[in-house]
Amino acid sequence: MTDLGNGAESPSSVQLNPRAALWPNYAPPQELIFTHGRGSELVTEEGIAYLDFLSGIAVNSFGHAHPHLVTAVTEQAKKLWHVSNTFRIPAAERLASRLTANSFADCVFFANSGTEAMEAGIKSIRAYQAAKGNSERYRIIGFSDSFHGRTLAALAVAGNPSHMKAFIPLDYGFDQAEWEDLESLRSTINKNTAGIVLEPVQGEGGIRPISKEFIGAVRSLCDEQDLVLMFDEVQCGIGRTGKLFAHQCYGITPDVMALAKGLGGGFPVGACLTTAAIGETMVVGSHGSTFGGNPLAMAVANAVMDLVLAPGLLEEVARKAEYLFAQLQQLVARFPALIKSVHGMGLMIGLKCEIPNTELLGELRNRHLIVGKAGDNMIRLLPPLNVSDDDLAKSIHILAETLQDLQGE
Ligand SMILES: *Cc1c(COP(=O)(O)O)cnc(C)c1O
Repeated sequence: MTDLGNGAESPSSVQLNPRAALWPNYAPPQELIFTHGRGSELVTEEGIAYLDFLSGIAVNSFGHAHPHLVTAVTEQAKKLWHVSNTFRIPAAERLASRLTANSFADCVFFANSGTEAMEAGIKSIRAYQAAKGNSERYRIIGFSDSFHGRTLAALAVAGNPSHMKAFIPLDYGFDQAEWEDLESLRSTINKNTAGIVLEPVQGEGGIRPISKEFIGAVRSLCDEQDLVLMFDEVQCGIGRTGKLFAHQCYGITPDVMALAKGLGGGFPVGACLTTAAIGETMVVGSHGSTFGGNPLAMAVANAVMDLVLAPGLLEEVARKAEYLFAQLQQLVARFPALIKSVHGMGLMIGLKCEIPNTELLGELRNRHLIVGKAGDNMIRLLPPLNVSDDDLAKSIHILAETLQDLQGE
């Protein structure tokens, strides 16, 4: 080891454990490193292919290295990556117009991630109430088992104690109600309440679509009491459920909505959509983002929108989801000691396990099927929206074999 005289080790010895140079906040499997991807496959340096039914947690909405997205990013990279938002960015205006033309919303703020889209939405709820003269209305209600990201406000509105601990003082202006419990929600609303935030399909908490009754009741409560309703569609939006937005499956619209994950197809981008009444309160200087909505991100997200809005794509998602759901239900019937039930909407599917979900996840990975886990002991399946019928059949085949072997033990 070379002594650099300042307590630092030489570069060659640092290389021995490069992983230690990162925070230990993730725990990836040590031996597995992917170097490229194509469609629904991830490939290691050694050329071993894995079927990717996690899609970077619903991010790679059109799989890996989709030609249309590769073209979009490379063509734009040759022209202009970034200008500050002090200048007009036509691609952002175009993307915003496409998002609003296809949703409840009138205007959009672009960010770089889901949690930033949430943060923008939370600020817009407070700005709106303040602009209406309701400055005492600053508190925002979230629901149990929610996940809204990792900034302090996003943690506080979800209120999950295991994520918040050590970071957040007790009263940060957020309250929690029990999921799907109208009485709990009613008793949590008070004169300081500004709005309500929910995921139409809870993701991290365990792939739980909200019930039609509850989402309708929340909307009515918001209308009666002049509260802002915000949906977090960071995971369930952009075609995942077979509709462009999950709430369109219910016929209920929010006033504010956060998007991210699937919107960039792998490029970091987030968006906060609002009604005109709310958006217009976010005046010059009220909010901003250095990178948000830059030309490179907007070029990719527009290309994703080309694919999502292509005729027939959403119908195909619904058809494939129906197939996958039915196949998984057959597996539940065959292996009731190992898996209990199938949950979800569209290609956002949870498989509730009877054995520890991490055990099944590890066994599937050994057989080269990548899935995720979620709360409530779920395995999470999030294949690309353009997954092929062959790859769907292959995933079922791997699952069946794995469960068969687990059962035999
Ligand atoms: C992933 C996720 C977030 C946070 O998104 P980041 O891009 O990680 O900040 C917020 N809400 C939901 C529902 C999510 O699934």
